[in-house]
Amino acid sequence: MNDQNHRHFSRRAVLKGAAVLAAVAAATTGPTRALAQGKATKASMQYRDSPNGKQECSNCMQFIPGKTPQAKGTCKVVAGEISPKGWCIAYAPKG
Ligand code: SF4
Repeated sequence: MNDQNHRHFSRRAVLKGAAVLAAVAAATTGPTRALAQGKATKASMQYRDSPNGKQECSNCMQFIPGKTPQAKGTCKVVAGEISPKGWCIAYAPKG
């Protein structure tokens, strides 16, 4: 194989590798990519409207409160309206 052929072959191999990686990325992020915001679905995070002991959205670092402490807010990682008394498996206590 001369130098020119070698370069050509390597470039094709890299392009093919990139295509495979893109396909794998699309396959693995498909279910949670459905939402335009790029957030996870409530179902995939096992979100529920009730707390898990003392763990609830109002004391989770991902929670974005609504207009009042009782009002529904939003979450940085889970899509849709989020209850301050809700909970999901991505719960992370406020520091
Ligand atoms: Fe609630 Fe889960 Fe979002 Fe935390 S990550 S605010 S527990 S929905």
